[in-house]
Amino acid sequence: MKSIEWGLLFNEYHMNDYDAEELENIVEDLMIDDDVNNKKGIYYYLFNQKEKHLSIRAFSPAMKRAAFERQNGICSLCGNEFKINEMEAGARTYVPAPFIYSISDSVSH
Ligand SMILES: [Zn+2]
Repeated sequence: MKSIEWGLLFNEYHMNDYDAEELENIVEDLMIDDDVNNKKGIYYYLFNQKEKHLSIRAFSPAMKRAAFERQNGICSLCGNEFKINEMEAGARTYVPAPFIYSISDSVSH
């Protein structure tokens, strides 16, 4: 992980506040998660929680359907019920491991 600007991360996010063991566990989980395409981004993700750093694989229609059925058509953000064609798949939540796929309606929240 040479290309990570560790010094910058330390300064910006005050790494002392983090539990080293917990961080290590999260890194391990993300490293073996096939949906995480950008392994280098894991370190940035740890500090600012922005999933864009992970380049997570896009949803397939089957994954969208599975998430829809698991949530019974309920939007994960507002709790209202929608039809599958009214919903967007792609929102994911790190819980912390592994990623769960979730869906929400097309309205921006
Ligand atoms: Zn909603």
